[in-house]
Amino acid sequence: MSRTLNTEAVKKAGEKVNLFGWVNSVRAHGKILFFDLRDYTGLIQIVADPEELEIAGDLKNQWVVEVVGKVKERPKNMINEKIKTGTVEVKAEKINVLSKSETPPFELDDDGMSVSENIRMKHRYLDIRRGRIQNNLRKRNKVAQAFRDFLVDKEFVEVETPVLSKSTPEGARDFLVPSRKQPGSFYALPQSPQQYKQLLMVGGIEKYFQFARCFRDEDVRADRQAEFTQLDMEMSFIDRDQILELVEKMFIEVVEKVFPERKIKAKSFPRISYEEAIEKYDSDRPDLRDKKEELAFAFIVDFPMFEKYEGGWRSEHHPFTKPMEENVEKIKKEPSKISAYQYDLVLNGEEIGGGSIRSHNPELLEAVFEVLGHTKQETRDKFGHLLNAFRYGVPPHGGMAFGFERFLMVMLEEENIREVMAFPKTGDGRDLMMQAPSEDITKKQLKELHIKLDRNDKK
Ligand code: ASP
Repeated sequence: MSRTLNTEAVKKAGEKVNLFGWVNSVRAHGKILFFDLRDYTGLIQIVADPEELEIAGDLKNQWVVEVVGKVKERPKNMINEKIKTGTVEVKAEKINVLSKSETPPFELDDDGMSVSENIRMKHRYLDIRRGRIQNNLRKRNKVAQAFRDFLVDKEFVEVETPVLSKSTPEGARDFLVPSRKQPGSFYALPQSPQQYKQLLMVGGIEKYFQFARCFRDEDVRADRQAEFTQLDMEMSFIDRDQILELVEKMFIEVVEKVFPERKIKAKSFPRISYEEAIEKYDSDRPDLRDKKEELAFAFIVDFPMFEKYEGGWRSEHHPFTKPMEENVEKIKKEPSKISAYQYDLVLNGEEIGGGSIRSHNPELLEAVFEVLGHTKQETRDKFGHLLNAFRYGVPPHGGMAFGFERFLMVMLEEENIREVMAFPKTGDGRDLMMQAPSEDITKKQLKELHIKLDRNDKK
């Protein structure tokens, strides 16, 4: 007999079915035993008589079982409206225990909010069983698929870019990976695929996207993890307004497909200049909601190119952003007056994405690096590959990237980004389940990597 999923059993009254899942809550009513069986589609009530089926009396929560039995309609007064299969129950004829479970360290039937986060993270594989996390991960997949469908339909190509790479300045600290074969050399994990996606434009891909892993060694916060996913995009022969129109269409389509119950406040996302946002809302990510339930998207545009930083200048977005001034001398002379073709997407007061039109003229790029305090030589050393590439026919291009989990966090009304990730790290960047980062490496490994620790107590 092939497997019947719990929710499929509803339509099979009178038939024999073969169900698989976890025991959810065992209740004894006199001689008769009831339990819910849980699979990924939901719960179904199983009835068993321990006098006929001895094993039934032993069952405990979270055991994994196979149940063979007959589906029966429930009498009207016994219908359980709370579960999808509440009109039926299954009278067990055979129960096979596939694996037993110890008592879990916390309840799995509630939202888990009252359990200490460290305990939840240590046993994340159990935490994932709770309905809320199940829903979040399944919705996450639906949202990713909806973005993919939209972009592939518009002839975007998903291209994977390397994780072992070289540092791209996005303003955070890099994670470094030592090279065994090149003593003293390090890879950097990408803070974003920024340079690769621009190089793909030189390569003639024209429309690129990727669900890209990004790594930024910075303090973890409720809306930030050191390792996260961006929906990353880049396009050639496109201007700012065309990008914003496409992004607006994409977000409306995704929300309407996956969250049809949510109301978008304005389907033409307001475009607010950085200056106006600061003046009017004292924030570059204003919350424009009237009623709490709605979704208020907005684009913030025309950011300043540079901001003052420790006596010098740093880029407000990143150095590859195109200044609104083409005169190289002016850029170098008056950095504070230069605006940039930079834009952010804001949703309910959260910055969920940012991007820009890029400088595709190498001289312009070099001038920006000069303002940022790099000598010509440093610029060549660090970004020579990009400057060289731009000498071989670079199309004008621009793009944007979205914090995928931040968007999900708003849509799923979660307070913490961890709730929408399968295996997040704790506030201080640890994976408590795998126990990473770990000191569990040998002297030999360190030696191969040409690394000496300050402390020297390795075996
Ligand atoms: N790479 C940028 C970021 O991570 C996004 C972009 O400019 O497309 O913020």
